[in-house]
Amino acid sequence: MIIVMKAGSTEEQIQEVVSLVRKLGYQVHLSTGVERTIIGVIGHKDKSPIQSFASLEAVESVIPILKPFKLSSFEMKGERSLIDVDGVTFGGEQIALIAGPCSVESRDQIVRIAHQVKQAGAHILRGGAYKPRTSPYSFQGLEEEGLKFLREAKEETGLRIVTEIVAIGDMDLLVEYADMIQIGARNCQNFALLKAVGQSKKPVLFKRGMSTTVKEFLQAADYILSEGNPNVILCERGIRTFEDSTRNTLDLSAVALLRNWSHLPVVVDPSHATGVRELVMPMARAAMAAGADGLIIEVHDRPEEAYSDGPQSLRPDEFKECLREVSGIAAAVGRRL
Ligand code: PEP
Ligand code: MN
Repeated sequence: MIIVMKAGSTEEQIQEVVSLVRKLGYQVHLSTGVERTIIGVIGHKDKSPIQSFASLEAVESVIPILKPFKLSSFEMKGERSLIDVDGVTFGGEQIALIAGPCSVESRDQIVRIAHQVKQAGAHILRGGAYKPRTSPYSFQGLEEEGLKFLREAKEETGLRIVTEIVAIGDMDLLVEYADMIQIGARNCQNFALLKAVGQSKKPVLFKRGMSTTVKEFLQAADYILSEGNPNVILCERGIRTFEDSTRNTLDLSAVALLRNWSHLPVVVDPSHATGVRELVMPMARAAMAAGADGLIIEVHDRPEEAYSDGPQSLRPDEFKECLREVSGIAAAVGRRL
């Protein structure tokens, strides 16, 4: 249930409604937009007593949210969220660009690639220090040493850092080193981990699970939001289907649907969605046309030597070409790189 306050209602009127809602035993989620304030009424209690709030002078309307997700729903905010990652904005006219290798492999590797992606036009450097690998025998990441190398890459290039968390116990380290914390597809419904990043307030790059429906994905996002962290960026990275010629199937309609159902920005990962280098650029272009607010692309200058995901990694010159192509599509849909 949301209570939409009339445009121009005073702080006092808003607080009066908030305290009435709290008195009835519900939680409140306040969304102060440019135009008007929306009071989200949260909790599992019956919300019908809230309906009578429609007769209060400062209240414009009381609307039930029928979807299973609430805080991430578009209605809850009434406008698109702009999320700031240390000066890089997601959800605005400019497209946010994240690029880098799948894994941090050495100081030299990550610093070298950071310079290359920066030169091509990326804003944020990606690189896993803790890797959620399908096999326990695969490279698991350099852990804290990898975070230190990421920091060095940031100091040299000015790029912001996004890196994945796989265990709650690493939270303090991740908060210290990263500008944005990635929750990978395999942890999309790891609710304890979602609550922990929700408490951290760091921007979260939240990837859709490989078998998660859009409704389940947004309910999972509500776990982060309901802990008080509004800085959630959704990421479509392909889902499991019967098709086995690509690593996953990029669900582009989910991009349009998420931007319809939710106020949160949506990023597309054409690398994990396809698993095939040659398909990354066409899918990046398609993502732009579908309305994506950003892209995350794996880039490696020696993909044949990469510890993980070499076959889907663009070489730096291919990445540069990809951005050139994408910028044409972005302009056609009223966005820019
Ligand atoms: C990654 O970004 O390297 C990764 C493991 O992605 P996903 O969680 O989407 O598989
Ligand atoms: Mn990867």
